[in-house]
Amino acid sequence: MKASLTQAWFCCVVWLTASAVGADDWFVPFKRVGDYKPKGPAHCFRQFNIDWSWIALRPDQVPEFLSEADPVALAEFCRRMNVDGTVVMAVPHHGYCTHETRVGTKFPGMKGDWFGRTIEELHKRKIAAFGYVTLNWNWKFIRENVGRDFIHGKPDADGVCSSRCVICLNAPGYLELVEGYTREVLEKYPVDGMRWDILISAKKGGLHGSSDCTCEGCRRLFRQLYGQELTRWQDFDERRHMEFYIATTTRAVERLRALCKRVKPSVDIWQNCVSSYHENDLNVGRRMDIAYNEFADSYRLMLLRGATGKPAAINGLMNKASPAPGAPLTPLDHREWRACLALGGRCYSYYGHKQTDHKTLLPNDTIQGWHREQLAPFYGMVSQIEPWLRDAVPVSHVGIVFSEATRFRFPCYDRAPYVAAMEPIANAGLQRSAPVEFVNALDLGKPQKQLSRFKLLILPRTSGLSATELDHLRRYVRAGGSLLVAGDALRHDSRGKELGGMALAKEMGLQHGDTLLSTLHVRPFGRGKMACIADATQEAIDQLAGPAPLTVQPPEVRVILTRQEKQHRWVLHLLDDGPCTVEIRREFVPATKITHQFPTSGWKCAVEKTDVGLRIKASDRASDRLLVLE
Ligand SMILES: [Zn+2]
Repeated sequence: MKASLTQAWFCCVVWLTASAVGADDWFVPFKRVGDYKPKGPAHCFRQFNIDWSWIALRPDQVPEFLSEADPVALAEFCRRMNVDGTVVMAVPHHGYCTHETRVGTKFPGMKGDWFGRTIEELHKRKIAAFGYVTLNWNWKFIRENVGRDFIHGKPDADGVCSSRCVICLNAPGYLELVEGYTREVLEKYPVDGMRWDILISAKKGGLHGSSDCTCEGCRRLFRQLYGQELTRWQDFDERRHMEFYIATTTRAVERLRALCKRVKPSVDIWQNCVSSYHENDLNVGRRMDIAYNEFADSYRLMLLRGATGKPAAINGLMNKASPAPGAPLTPLDHREWRACLALGGRCYSYYGHKQTDHKTLLPNDTIQGWHREQLAPFYGMVSQIEPWLRDAVPVSHVGIVFSEATRFRFPCYDRAPYVAAMEPIANAGLQRSAPVEFVNALDLGKPQKQLSRFKLLILPRTSGLSATELDHLRRYVRAGGSLLVAGDALRHDSRGKELGGMALAKEMGLQHGDTLLSTLHVRPFGRGKMACIADATQEAIDQLAGPAPLTVQPPEVRVILTRQEKQHRWVLHLLDDGPCTVEIRREFVPATKITHQFPTSGWKCAVEKTDVGLRIKASDRASDRLLVLE
């Protein structure tokens, strides 16, 4: 007995040592849930969500849910799709639980512990499982509390709540319930991540036509924040409404974060409504472990990564459409999905989720067909190029300084005009194979940001910078960088109040009240340049930034260059299929040779040295191409 135990221990040590040096040390057997090492979402490039929150919405359908659900069938479906991480719903919007619960109620028709068995089957297939709990749309809670002042909106005649009802996030006891679910998931199950769904609260003109809430929880928070009584919302101005709303959603995020980091800090967490589309504070995304960008394009992906300071973002490129059974399906857009991967995204799909069977939790034949024909081959390709995606960051020579405080000057703190002002600059960069990088003003002083690698920093309408942040910009220019202030940037303080002139006006050589002209105004400052213009034109950007790291011919072909610092190499993602020539400047990429091409056959490339670096000619046509340079 003793000998066999020693032997088992020895085998275990050898195995662990081997896996530590191997590429894949995830899904290692564990004794206690607390010992399980999660494979977080940043390591999963092929994510999925078999979302079944939006099917069978009538309360009388609840008993049918999961009545025929087979965890093996679901895990096999994910494996066949080449998925490496999926959301697993513990508490969907229906408000019932799929896990063993004390704080909630299990789906009555479910057999056994569906949540636990599904995670087990996924892990057997080396697929990460991310726990999911609804935050705002707990329809069971809503129905049980209809008529109370913290429930806004009413279910329809069939008892369907859908998105017509919303729970105030300050509702007495409600966050405690969500915390309870979350604690159960983290303590009892080896989840690889944790995510909540929807982050909104009640406010005037908000979703569902809700009015500002005056429930007991709101009154308590109001007193805490402002030291005064919340009487009637009409007594307070628009700014107070928005500030309270943001404080409400931020409080929920912080409470859930604190709980998770207490229970199991190694589990990465994220929220789905902290993005450029939502009113929530984007800076609260910095408190999450990964950024999350649903239904998003490349621009929004770059913006969110920069704003949150995260190297990776789960980037939903899923098609919202749920075509009728048998109807033609939308082909997966390889170019867009590949761009997402090159820009630090993690692919994430839940195409056609409204055609999932609520009894089996499997999609119908039409949607299964899309997954088989479109998603599976694409994810198969991603699994092959994964070594060149890990820890890779796009190479940018132009940065855009983002400040969340810019929104405070707009009515209702609307971020949209600011987002719209940055979009053409970012998209032009992408089109010219020179993606910009967004830098949150809060990160300007961080040495790891290495501001000196940017030839140019642009402030398009960006305002609200602190004195320290302005100092970082001065230092950057003094050391040789160029700064371009565009439009009405730097004219408002951190609360959105007008300054009466532009910060840095003196450094620009402007009078305090001067308005900017349509021609570029440039002034030397230290070893660099301070510049301003009414609209940041491409001409002005090129003049200040100088040549980009890459030049591509024909110009409509898109290429994204990334750097893998740890591996000392660069990766050139060719997003289009035809022949092209890429000139690479040595100044940015001191590479001398191509060490790998993907796919290995079907196309050719030739490399030659030029005066400024390398010229690469790719001939023939092939999909999903990349080149590795060292
Ligand atoms: Zn309330």
